Amino acid sequence: MTKDQFLHVLHNVPDLDEASRARLACALLGHSAIVEMCFGQVTCARCDALLGDTIGGCFDLRDKVIRGHACEKCRKVFEGLGWQDRLYVRDPFVEDFGKEQKAPYLLEKLA
Ligand SMILES: [Zn+2]
Ligand SMILES: [Zn+2]
Repeated sequence: MTKDQFLHVLHNVPDLDEASRARLACALLGHSAIVEMCFGQVTCARCDALLGDTIGGCFDLRDKVIRGHACEKCRKVFEGLGWQDRLYVRDPFVEDFGKEQKAPYLLEKLA
């Protein structure tokens, strides 16, 4: 799906809240390569869906950016990500300052 096609769909679905918008983006574009990891569970950094867990050792994180990781590998993978992965995802290398003040979105708007 191209940016234009995505924007077209978005314009036809008015009044989306943040969470619905994120789920719609993941439904259309696939989950982001930016993930969050908590106790071995891997979730999508955009829509919070559970993608898998690393406990069984069968989740491949080589092409993923782990939020808050900021290691060399994560930064390198991040450099290669396109808008599909960055859209509506909070900056993975900026800490959240609690619930009220969150890290900024990478791509709040496409246009
Ligand atoms: Zn997702
Ligand atoms: Zn890393």
